[in-house]
Formats: sequence, structure tokens, C-alpha cells
Amino acid sequence: MKNLSFRFNIQILRTISQVLFFALSLLLVGSNRTVGTVLFALVFFIGVFFCGWVCPFGSLQEWIGKLGDMLKIKKRRLPQKFQRIFQITRYVIFALFIYKIFYAPLRARATFGEILTEGFSNVTVAALVILMVILVLSLFIHRPFCNYFCEKGASYGLFSVLRIFSLKKDASKCVNCRKCDKNCPMNVEISRTNFVRHPNCINCFQCMGNCSRKAISYGIFKLSKSNTTSQTKIYKCACAGRRSFAMPPSGTS
Ligand code: SF4
Ligand code: SF4
Repeated sequence: MKNLSFRFNIQILRTISQVLFFALSLLLVGSNRTVGTVLFALVFFIGVFFCGWVCPFGSLQEWIGKLGDMLKIKKRRLPQKFQRIFQITRYVIFALFIYKIFYAPLRARATFGEILTEGFSNVTVAALVILMVILVLSLFIHRPFCNYFCEKGASYGLFSVLRIFSLKKDASKCVNCRKCDKNCPMNVEISRTNFVRHPNCINCFQCMGNCSRKAISYGIFKLSKSNTTSQTKIYKCACAGRRSFAMPPSGTS
């Protein structure tokens, strides 16, 4: 019950933050960039809060995804073996961006920012079509642009692997139900690790809130050999869990 209220509170807080920054990006041209710069520095300490709490385009994809849930549209996920390959695309785009050979219309986040601040006057048809495709895809896939195309998320994510604070999983409490994996919009396999410092993690805390065993917490990262959980450990943990714990009912997605 306590965990449920924590989940409720942190997600309410996150939604308020998303709405606030969405409104700010409408009202104050350039504010998002300033906030983004500050949050970039924070990446080294607390991880990628920008994507989960601030970015208006990330929020928009999430809200469209929630609309899809309300319309009972089932979210699709790539199998992990394909996910590992396709999640590289955003780093390729980041590299192309650095070398300035980027195809501008692909930057749907920038297109959306332009529309918010300057209207449609400078937006090309190609950019608009790509933006619409991404938004429609958000009904079927969690944050499609964040997962596979965003060069900003890629740059934040790369540096966030050095973060001091990260999500931690208590393997002794974990029963390998994989509700954390199933609720992660960025397709991180939390169940396979004891510390989440994955570059895709956007600090949305969906994994933590949906863990009925309270096995996931947020705190200082400590380097140890046990930070990566082997399949054997997961298996043992699952067996122990089956003996002592009835599987929880399926949660929200
Ligand atoms: S990945 Fe990109 S679009 Fe998604 S939330 Fe982060 S900055 Fe925004
Ligand atoms: S690992 Fe947890 S906090 Fe990070 S993106 Fe996935 S659900 Fe959100």
C-alpha cells in the first residue's frame, strides 16, 4: 500500500514537472535550452532527469502513449536482441549530428520545438511528415523517438553511465517477475542487473513504482562484482521467490 502511494506520488510529481516545462517551452522561448544545460551538468550526479521530467517532446510521446492505453491499443516492444541493435541508431544520429551531416527533418524533437516557439512558418513538409509519423507511432510503441532517434537523449545517456546516483535492485527481494522490465518505456532490462546505469534510463521510476516487492530503490552507486546479475542468480532468486511469494497481480503499463 505504501509502495502504491509512493508510485502515485512520484508519478504525480513527474506529470506536474512535465506539464510545467511543456507550458514553459510555450511561454518562454529558449527557457528549455537553459534548463537543459543545467540538467546536462546534473546528468553526472543523478542521471537523465531531463528526458523523464522536462523534455516537452518526450512528455508528448508519453501522453500520446497513455492515450493509446486508454484506447486499449497494445504497446509493442522489439525483442531484446533487436532492441540492442536498433537502440544504436540514436548514437549513429548523434555522431552524424556532431559531424554536421545530419538530415534536418529527422530531428522531430527540434521540429516540434520550432513549431512551439515559431509556428509552422519555417517547417518543411518532410519534417512535418516525420513528426506526425513519430507521434502516431507513440500510440503503439513507448517513446519511439527517445528510444531510437534522439541525438540529445543519446548524448545525455552516454554521460549518464558515470552517474553517482542510480537505481539499485536488491537481489534478495527480487522474484524475477520482470514487471520492472515490462513497465520500462525505454526497454531497459532491469531484471538482469543490480544497478541501473543504462544510457537509456530516463529516471521515470516506473520500474521502482511497479515493483510489488520493493526491490528497487534509488541511491549512491557502489562498484562491486555483484553489480551484474547472472542468469544463474536470477534463476535461483526466482525459485526462492516461487516458494515464498505468490506472484503479484499484473500491474499498470
Ligand atoms: S530522448 Fe530526446 S525527445 Fe526523448 S525525452 Fe530525451 S531529449 Fe526529449
Ligand atoms: S530503468 Fe526504470 S527509471 Fe529507467 S527508464 Fe526504465 S522504468 Fe524508467
